[in-house]
Amino acid sequence: MNIHEYQAKGLLRGYGAPVSDGRVVLRAEEAKTAAGGLDGPLWVVKAQIHAGGRGKGSFKEADAGDKGGVRLAKSLGEAEAEAKAMLGRTLVTHQTGPVGKRVNCVYIEDGSGIERELYLALLVDRGSSRISFVCSTEGGMDIEQVAADTPEKILSFSVDPATGYQGFHGRRIAFMLGLSGKQVKQCVRLMGTLYKLFVDKDMEMLEINPLIVSDSGDLKCLDAKMGFDSNAVYRHPDIAELRDVTEEDPKELEASKFDLNYIALDGEIGCMVNGAGLAMATMDIIKLYGAEPANFLDVGGGATKEKVTEAFKIITSDPQVKGILVNIFGGIMRCDVIAEGVVAAVKEVGLQVPLVVRLEGTNVEEGKAILNNSDVDVIAADNLKDGAQKIVKAVRG
Ligand code: GDP
Ligand code: MN
Repeated sequence: MNIHEYQAKGLLRGYGAPVSDGRVVLRAEEAKTAAGGLDGPLWVVKAQIHAGGRGKGSFKEADAGDKGGVRLAKSLGEAEAEAKAMLGRTLVTHQTGPVGKRVNCVYIEDGSGIERELYLALLVDRGSSRISFVCSTEGGMDIEQVAADTPEKILSFSVDPATGYQGFHGRRIAFMLGLSGKQVKQCVRLMGTLYKLFVDKDMEMLEINPLIVSDSGDLKCLDAKMGFDSNAVYRHPDIAELRDVTEEDPKELEASKFDLNYIALDGEIGCMVNGAGLAMATMDIIKLYGAEPANFLDVGGGATKEKVTEAFKIITSDPQVKGILVNIFGGIMRCDVIAEGVVAAVKEVGLQVPLVVRLEGTNVEEGKAILNNSDVDVIAADNLKDGAQKIVKAVRG
């Protein structure tokens, strides 16, 4: 689960990490008062969307101007004008994809004077099963680009959970970042704070880009991106409250209501599968035969007819879907339940695209009989390979 920058900074502030003072603004009319509550004489108006690269992004609407989603303002009037230009408009960045994201909220911050822009992140390193720090002197840029062009400018190391964060970790980062004097002390303290926050809240990712040395020579978190382990959010009601469902894919949101493991993708073949492993294999084999999956969908082991119906509805609601492959191996799941769900869903929403069904396992004959006796137009498949070939042929000809 991701949250907005202003929410992430609220958490940082609560733990004593240095961030600028700021105000959330939902309507342009509030912008002047909000900015007036900050010191000035420089303000930064920042579009709040769940995507990075806002500064270098661009708006779809011409009247939003051509300055991207992070704008400096030198007066209250300018701050208001920038807030007005961005609110309700669609910001496209390299992380949003071409459709972009609508800006429902801007964050107005007290502007900082910047001496240096640094990069810092904490993440769960699945290789070492530990939390890793990643830092670089090349802040403000895409870390992927830095990693590709100048990997020697990135330092990454993991923290042994038995000892937890220690001062030497922070000093190592300070040294790498070329910090000196009071900054070293600030760095050691800040890294400890970030590590504690990361562990306390079950985060997956915490990125400060840029971490700056301000014109007064102090460290400050100028941007903040946080991702939380969705499976642990139930332990943190304060974090759960920060969820903004308007930032999520409506199909994924609908699927989460029915406890379906659904991830929207860009392809044209909708998949309904039971078991994450089989779902991955199904996506692979679709690609092998030359097409692209429109989604990952694991309906789970003990799915009911209602759940299968919902899953089918979510798949067919995607206009990109040009064909559907149902691939079920009935272990705990019974093939007749899947068949009933498919028939019920088609009755409810209709079927505009070819449908290939491969059933195997528990109650497979009953399942096939239900499909055969219905008036649903099903292309039957004998096995996974046959199913993949048939749906790709039906869609691509
Ligand atoms: P992102 O583009 O989505 O990563 O948004 P950031 O919050 O990182 O802002 C992008 C860039 O705007 C930063 O790298 C800074 O160069 C600049 N910026 C952000 N806040 C300030 C500020 O308070 N003062 C100044 N001078 N520049 C800022
Ligand atoms: Mn940034």
